[in-house]
Amino acid sequence: MGKCKFCGEKAGFLKKKHKECELKFNEGQLKYIELIKSSILGNRDLQELSENLLSLKQSSFLNDEHHINLVTDAFDQVVSKVLEDGMLSVAEEEKITRFCDFMQLGQDIYPFYFKNLKH
Ligand SMILES: [Zn+2]
Repeated sequence: MGKCKFCGEKAGFLKKKHKECELKFNEGQLKYIELIKSSILGNRDLQELSENLLSLKQSSFLNDEHHINLVTDAFDQVVSKVLEDGMLSVAEEEKITRFCDFMQLGQDIYPFYFKNLKH
């Protein structure tokens, strides 16, 4: 009997995963990114975001590495969206800075995007 690589339960003869678990895993990642994006852009409570992410992470079989990659991806998408018009408003910068501070992304990610940007 093979075990499901997501939930660790028996998956059946010659099977390595449950379809439902794989689906949760894939959908969880999309939701993860959406949640982060909408929280930054909508200026929502980040404490609440991090609680939501934690439960999503557990229910979608995501590990810490997935978490970091998804946060980075979502952040990336937010930054391209915000910079679409070629300008960074003070309000936009505040939203992004707030998120960076909260997720402690400051050191590596933030300066990379904004070091050449002046306003
Ligand atoms: Zn499973």
